Amino acid sequence: MLSYRHAFHAGNHADVLKHTVLLELLAYYNRKDKPWIYIDTHAGGGCYALESEQAGKTAEFGEGIGRLWARDDLPAPLAAYVAAVGQFNPHGRLLFYPGSPALAMTQARAQDRLRLFELHPADFESLQRTFDREQERVQVRRADGFGALKGLLPPPSRRAVVLIDPPYEVKDDYRRVVDTLRDALRRFPTGTFAVWYPMLSRTEARMLPERLAELGAESWLDVRLAVRSPARDGFGMFGSGLYVVNPPWLLPERLEKTLPWLVEHLGQDEGAGFDLEHHIE
Ligand code: SAM
Repeated sequence: MLSYRHAFHAGNHADVLKHTVLLELLAYYNRKDKPWIYIDTHAGGGCYALESEQAGKTAEFGEGIGRLWARDDLPAPLAAYVAAVGQFNPHGRLLFYPGSPALAMTQARAQDRLRLFELHPADFESLQRTFDREQERVQVRRADGFGALKGLLPPPSRRAVVLIDPPYEVKDDYRRVVDTLRDALRRFPTGTFAVWYPMLSRTEARMLPERLAELGAESWLDVRLAVRSPARDGFGMFGSGLYVVNPPWLLPERLEKTLPWLVEHLGQDEGAGFDLEHHIE
């Protein structure tokens, strides 16, 4: 089943958290000249027009990037994120939202590589179009990202940032992220892996961070941003989180300063809040 389309959600509060952390990870990797590879197992469409019928229909970006776009009081990680989004909106109006592959590309140097996987035919096509002039540095494949990851690990440069960002529209995604991360850590224990997950009332979602922690990575960070209270009927995403294996040692401190700002500006009711746990060796 491939009914999920990220265009409806592009730039929402979950993207703000995910993409801010992603840029932090890659900026840290850029401190050394040695090449890195960025692997996006569930890449999406690449770049989204916010005035399209899809994005305009839900206008979720208005409660995400839209609340940060015109501010001049952003904590450093959010300022870097908004500046990266700004590269796709050179005339100052927020018209386009770059997905994770396009944001990763803003950090890529001549020596770095991107490997992108996307199954949906329309999103795959749009992803290919986004990167058709970057064939040397970027490879786009229409393939199952969970299954494809193992073939890329360990990478020759021994430096990789991997984003695992499934839609969780099928229950099996919860099991597959855990199995995929377990296998990836066995092949390449020193890579940086970021698993995005939704905050939902359903049991699989509530248990997922615990299941990921049970894999026993030595260095990890778990960050969660809730923008509202769970709905009484139990439906709907009320926040999201990222579980990061081998995060940069500076990341907790940078997020500590960022998360209260996000709660204040993206929070929709008294249920808004954040959690940040980590253990970095
Ligand atoms: N990573 C993107 C970003 O942050 O901009 C968003 C990705 S979206 C949450 C998830 C994407 O995964 C959807 O475009 C969906 O079509 C795709 N997808 C679903 N199952 C997949 C699979 N097994 N392998 C690769 N892509 C898949």
